[in-house]
Amino acid sequence: MVSYAPLAPAPASSVDARLALAEQLLACESARGCARAVVEWLPAHAQALAAACVAREEPGARMTCLAAQGLCEAQQAALAAWSDADSTHPLADVLTQAVPRFFPKERAPLPSPGAQGLFAVPLGRAGASPVGLLLVWASTPELPAEVAWVAGHAGPFLARQATSGPLAAGGSELFRRIIDAVTDPVLLTDLEGRARLANARAEALLMAGPDASHGRRRAVHLNQRVFSAAVASSASGGQPGVSWREVPLVDPVEGLDLLFEMVSTRVYEPDGREAMVSVLRNVTDLGRATQALGESYRRLRATEREARSERHRLDRVLDSVADPIILSDPSGVTVMMNEPAERLFSLPPEGGRAAQRRVRSNHATFVSFLANVLDTGGSPRWRGHLSLVDPTSGATLPVEAVASKVLGEGGELTGIVTLFQDRGEALEKARLLERLKEVSTLLEARVQVATAELAEQNEKLRRQAIQLEQASAAKSQFLANMSHEFRTPLNAILGYTNMLLQGVSGELTAPQKRNLTRIDSNGRHLLEVINEILDITRIEAGRMPLHLSDFVIPELLQEVMAEMDPIIARSKLTVTTHLGARLPPVHSDRQKVKQVVLNLLSNALKFTHEGTVKVVAEYQPSSSMLTICVEDTGIGIAPADQEKIFEDFQQVDSSPTRAYGGTGLGLSICRRLADMLGGRVTLQSTQGQGSAFTLHFPRRPRRT
Ligand code: ADP
Repeated sequence: MVSYAPLAPAPASSVDARLALAEQLLACESARGCARAVVEWLPAHAQALAAACVAREEPGARMTCLAAQGLCEAQQAALAAWSDADSTHPLADVLTQAVPRFFPKERAPLPSPGAQGLFAVPLGRAGASPVGLLLVWASTPELPAEVAWVAGHAGPFLARQATSGPLAAGGSELFRRIIDAVTDPVLLTDLEGRARLANARAEALLMAGPDASHGRRRAVHLNQRVFSAAVASSASGGQPGVSWREVPLVDPVEGLDLLFEMVSTRVYEPDGREAMVSVLRNVTDLGRATQALGESYRRLRATEREARSERHRLDRVLDSVADPIILSDPSGVTVMMNEPAERLFSLPPEGGRAAQRRVRSNHATFVSFLANVLDTGGSPRWRGHLSLVDPTSGATLPVEAVASKVLGEGGELTGIVTLFQDRGEALEKARLLERLKEVSTLLEARVQVATAELAEQNEKLRRQAIQLEQASAAKSQFLANMSHEFRTPLNAILGYTNMLLQGVSGELTAPQKRNLTRIDSNGRHLLEVINEILDITRIEAGRMPLHLSDFVIPELLQEVMAEMDPIIARSKLTVTTHLGARLPPVHSDRQKVKQVVLNLLSNALKFTHEGTVKVVAEYQPSSSMLTICVEDTGIGIAPADQEKIFEDFQQVDSSPTRAYGGTGLGLSICRRLADMLGGRVTLQSTQGQGSAFTLHFPRRPRRT
């Protein structure tokens, strides 16, 4: 039950003020008006630092802040964020107890800077349950007499308004229900956009209790700022009628962006103050639809641009193709053609009747080709050989036409592209190929004839080779026989000559002796020739086999020197032998090695008039080869003759008046013998300075 301490008498100065307030309260038609008059009066006349009036619509409902002075919006909202069913809230307790209470500042439910504490004074009719609280932030802990007076007088006024309708609206319950039933947010605000009345939709968007989630509080705070700015801007527009604007808000539950169309109207409250009634209409979907429409329009424009550039590109592609191309629609009508096609299917600038006829003929040929293409049904491509005519020159143009059907997304025919390729070159190639084949066949026949002839010649040659081989063998046999037949009587001649020279048949006169000596010398020369011919024929006839034995080089050279001693003695030459270190024993044909060295040494002695002749024997362990080199300071051999002298009967000077004797067979025999030993004879010579002939042969014959 609301009860107050007996009121102290008012000082004379405040009597007028009390009277003025009482008059104001009497004139008020709404609880909100009452509350506003009270909270505005208190700071001026009761040293209140701030004041507020909260009330409930019905028991258990949340409190509503009817009016406040000296408090910001958030503080006002916090003041009303409880209900009398909230037993833990200290203000609810005051309401239940119905006794004024002072909350020192450290325990005050809502601190106000500079205040000692907060007085919470129940408001209502005396003896009845309070309908609200008067909250006063004072600088003393004593309940100011003016506060108690105001609470005592304003309480019954407020209670009366409460019984006649909802406190917050200041209108009827029906009115409240009606505006709550409006699906669009509806608000009554002051000119700065501070809400005085809001329907349920508006509250959902613009209000949040202290127990609301952080996200919702933030969204609501943002919405309040945007909304207040929009209302303030509508109010400052100064237009008396209805103003319209778009307000972007946030859905506090989903966090989605919403777009509202806000229609604001300036109105006057019963107390004469100006206010704004704003109705918000959710046009988010409309906005989205507009946006989507704009987007699809932009896309349409882009597609159109793309199509235009595609067409442009297609034109360029067509023009860049050297072969004629025609694009026809599904009925066969030409839609587009490139320049090479125009030369065939359009009348040339100065074309006469003949050109006209040719173009018509080309056109007819193409139309009949296209008719075939369209008749083919499913086949996507069609080829045909057409015979066109050059409209200018009248020359026949054989072409291959390839028509491709262009199908739409649904598989329907949207066009036909026909490409013409010149077959002139292909036909020319085919003709040349045919000619080539003919020539090739002819050539093949000739080759066959030539091959047969060649085979015949080969056979002839083979037979001749056999005959030659037989003839060579016969020749060798003949030479061997002849040599033998020559040697026997020649040896007898030489023997008898020798006996005569030695005086076996009596003393000889000087001319006799001279003639016999000539017979002896010529006979010996003849014997030498016969021996050499015999050697060559034996080698060629394969009748000079290898006789391998072990021997040592120094001993062999000693023997050679001994045999040549008479000739060396007759010459004025210095002949020396040089043996290399570690000459190993040799397994080879001793007789043949000796014969080669004898030959080389006798040549050296023959072709050297003065100076020295050196015989040098060495061994190359790396190749297991022995070398015996006969080096002289004689007449030397010109480079041009150095190959030639190894051939049969070849001498540097082969004139009948030559200075040196010989057969020209010695070196060719040496080469053959060295060959049989698995070696070779090499020569290094400088004309006028001397020569070096070297026999190379292996220490052991290699297996063949
Ligand atoms: P020949 O019986 O004529 O000596 P060879 O076959 O032995 O036959 O020699 C052929 C020719 O090679 C000789 O006639 C000579 O012209 C030249 N010849 C050979 N050995 C020497 C040499 N040591 N110095 C210069 N010329 C040489």
